Amino acid sequence: MKAVEITEKKEKKEKLSYKEIEYMVNSYVKGKINDTTMSDFVWAIYHNGLSIEETYYLTDVMIKSGESIDLTSLKKPVVDKHSTGGVGDKITLIVSPIVACSGVCVPKMSGRGLGLTGGTVDKLESIPGYKLKLSKKGFVEALKNVGCAVISQSERIAVADKKIYALRNEIGAVDSIPLIASSIMSKKIASGSDVIIIDLKVGKGAFMKNIKDATKLAKTMVKIGEYYNKKVICTLSDMNTPLGKNIGNALEVKEVIDFFNGKYDKRLYELSVYISALMISTAKKISFSRAKALVINLLESGHAKNKFYEWIKYQGGDISKLKDKSKKFIVMSDKTGYINSINSEKLSKLVFDLGAGRKKKTDNIDYSVGVILNKTIGDKVNKGEILGVIYYNKKVENMDKLFVESFNIDKKKKKPKKIIIKTIK
Ligand code: URA
Repeated sequence: MKAVEITEKKEKKEKLSYKEIEYMVNSYVKGKINDTTMSDFVWAIYHNGLSIEETYYLTDVMIKSGESIDLTSLKKPVVDKHSTGGVGDKITLIVSPIVACSGVCVPKMSGRGLGLTGGTVDKLESIPGYKLKLSKKGFVEALKNVGCAVISQSERIAVADKKIYALRNEIGAVDSIPLIASSIMSKKIASGSDVIIIDLKVGKGAFMKNIKDATKLAKTMVKIGEYYNKKVICTLSDMNTPLGKNIGNALEVKEVIDFFNGKYDKRLYELSVYISALMISTAKKISFSRAKALVINLLESGHAKNKFYEWIKYQGGDISKLKDKSKKFIVMSDKTGYINSINSEKLSKLVFDLGAGRKKKTDNIDYSVGVILNKTIGDKVNKGEILGVIYYNKKVENMDKLFVESFNIDKKKKKPKKIIIKTIK
C-alpha cells in the first residue's frame, strides 16, 4: 500500500477500506509516514469528508491504537459524560457527584483547556492536592468507593488520536465533522462506559457555531455508538451566552460550591439538572421525569453536596486552600436597560488574556483570574450599577471596556434563547 495513493483516492472522493485507513493511521503512529504525508491525508478528509462506515473505521483503528478500560467489575450501571467545551462550563463538577449519589458510576477522563475554553482538568488543578492521575486500579477503586472519579485523559487511550489531533491543531484542520466525531468517540468508547452523554455546545463560545453542523456531528456520534452497542445521546446546548456567572478556573470551582449551597444561576441549574437526569434515566433505564425528581431531591437534601466534598477529598483535594488569590476590579454599567445577550466569545478572550487559558499545551496558567458576572441575561441594569468583577494579577489594557462591551444592553427586553436546544438519540 502507498500513502500517496490512499490520499489520492480520498481526493477523488472514493471510499476507503478499513485496511487503507488502518494503514495510514498505524504508519503515522509508528513514524513510518511523516507529518507532511499525514497532513495531506487529513486535508483530503477535511475537504472530501468520510462516509459513516469510513468514520467508524477511523474510530475503530484509533481505539485499537491504545488501551481500553474494562469497567465490568463495578457491577453497577456506568455512564460517561463529555462536553465539547464552552465558556464557564463547570457542568462535570456538578453532575458527576449528583449522578454518583443515584448509584450510577461516573468514570470521567477530562482534558486541559486549549484556546478560549477552559478544561475540567485546569479547574480541578486550582484545588491544591487534587490528584488528576490515578492508576487503572486506583481509578476503579475510586469508582467503587465514591461512585465518581475525574482524572486527566490517559496517555495510553486512543494513542493515534492524540498524535493526529495534535497535528490537526497545528495545521488548522480541527473543524471537520468526521474527524471530530471519530476523535471524541475513540476516547469515549475506549474509556469503557456503556452510556455516553454528550453536551454539544453550539454558538459563539463553542467550536460548533450553528445548529445544522452540530446536529450532523451529533448524528454521526450516535451512529458510531451503535457500531459498539453503546448508547450515545447528544444534547445540543446554547453557548452564545456563558454558562453560569463565574468564568476562570478557581472562580468556577467557587460557583460549583455556591451551586451545592443552593445559590443557583438559572441556566446553569437547568442544564445541570437536565444532563444529570438524562445520565441517570438512561443508565438506570427509568423515566426521565423520575430521574429529574431524584436529581432535585439529591440537590435539596444536601446528598449531592456531601458527595461533591467526599469525591474531592478522596482524590486528595483541599478545597479550603483554593488557588484564588488575585486583585479585584469592579466594573459598572454605562447604560440603563435589559441585558439581551452576553458575548461569550469576547468574555472568554478577556479571561484568556488575563492568564486563565493557554495557547500551547505546555503553557502555564493563572488559576485565580477570571470574571464574575453580577448581572446576567434577562436582568435589568441601571447606569452606575455593578455589572461584574474582574479578578486579575496583571492588568489587561482596557479590560473594563472589553468587559462592558461583552454585554448587549437594550431599552426593550428580548426573550432569552433557551439553553437546551434539542437532544439527539
Ligand atoms: N475534541 C476532541 O477530542 N477532538 C476533536 O477533534 C475536537 C474536539
